[in-house]
Amino acid sequence: MAKRIQFSRHGGTDVLELIDSQPAAPGPLEVRVRNRAIGLNFIDTYYRSGLYQPPSLPSGLGCEGAGEVEAVGSAVTHLQVGDRVAYGTGPLGAYAELHVLPAQHLVRLPDAVSFEQAAALMLKGLTVQYLLRQTYRAEAGQTILWHAAAGGVGLIACQWARALGVKLIGTVSSPEKAALAKANGAWATIDYSREDVVQRVLELTGGAKCPVVYDSVGKDTWERSLDCLAPRGLLVSFGNASGAVTGVNLGVLAQKGSLYVTRPTLGNYASNAEHLQAMADELFALLASGALQVEIGQRYALADAAKAQEALSSRQTTGSTILLP
Ligand code: NDP
Repeated sequence: MAKRIQFSRHGGTDVLELIDSQPAAPGPLEVRVRNRAIGLNFIDTYYRSGLYQPPSLPSGLGCEGAGEVEAVGSAVTHLQVGDRVAYGTGPLGAYAELHVLPAQHLVRLPDAVSFEQAAALMLKGLTVQYLLRQTYRAEAGQTILWHAAAGGVGLIACQWARALGVKLIGTVSSPEKAALAKANGAWATIDYSREDVVQRVLELTGGAKCPVVYDSVGKDTWERSLDCLAPRGLLVSFGNASGAVTGVNLGVLAQKGSLYVTRPTLGNYASNAEHLQAMADELFALLASGALQVEIGQRYALADAAKAQEALSSRQTTGSTILLP
């Protein structure tokens, strides 16, 4: 038997149950991974609460982890039992000692990358890769705005921007988070609990505002984010930490400067094994260069997944959070 977290209805963290389950045999194109570390992500709270719908209930949770291949399907040719692997996409169910998923979601881990680092980095780092290198290719010298800069995705973005010579202005909710974002490479920070974000962006950019704003907060920051964009700038709305953006009036984009908006998701970028590998190669190369360091702010036992989600949802975490089976 193996332990896993599941939920049978949507709700608060009390719907998460730790259960014993029979290890599943992988299908022909699948692999069974013995997780050594599991990544906690805000998206996990969306599936739990019902903002996002899992394919069925009861459902497993989580889509990021790292460990060893324990069993391979008959048609899998590129992975073997014992290989060290990591994943940040694929079916729900990573909050578990064992996770069965299609082999196309797995990348082989370089020896220098530990399981904990990989679990803290795969989903979040691949997200920063596509946001900074594909959705909008920020260039050295440009000034960009990134919300939640001291979070899991945010601290990786700060470091990646610094490596590119991009001046990242990060929003945060406290002086401690501001210091952390700065230490990780943010060029400037705005503490939105005491400062006017739009006013500060105007000051920091000499009135020019930003060519791109990365907004994972959603409902609460939508309007403000548009107001921080230069004419014909791009709003990358990639999350809903405060709730989903709804009821958008497209005319607002014209009034505020012929703006662009995109609502991207990692799955559409890491859409096949080739794209995933290319993105992971770039991520691991940045790590190997020393320009990126993994900031694991919190570690919890798998059994304490509910506590971990509570901390994430109530803004108590910084950097990445991992669960240990
Ligand atoms: P974080 O560690 O960034 O945690 C969320 C942070 O958002 C908080 O720490 C807090 O920072 C800020 N925040 C602002 N308003 C709220 C609010 N009302 N409730 C809670 N937090 C709030 O989480 P992750 O790194 O896991 O994810 C960051 C975001 O990126 C999420 O929205 C997630 O859904 C999104 N995402 C999107 C992906 C995609 O492909 N589209 C992939 C991966 C992540 P502060 O205290 O400084 O305000």
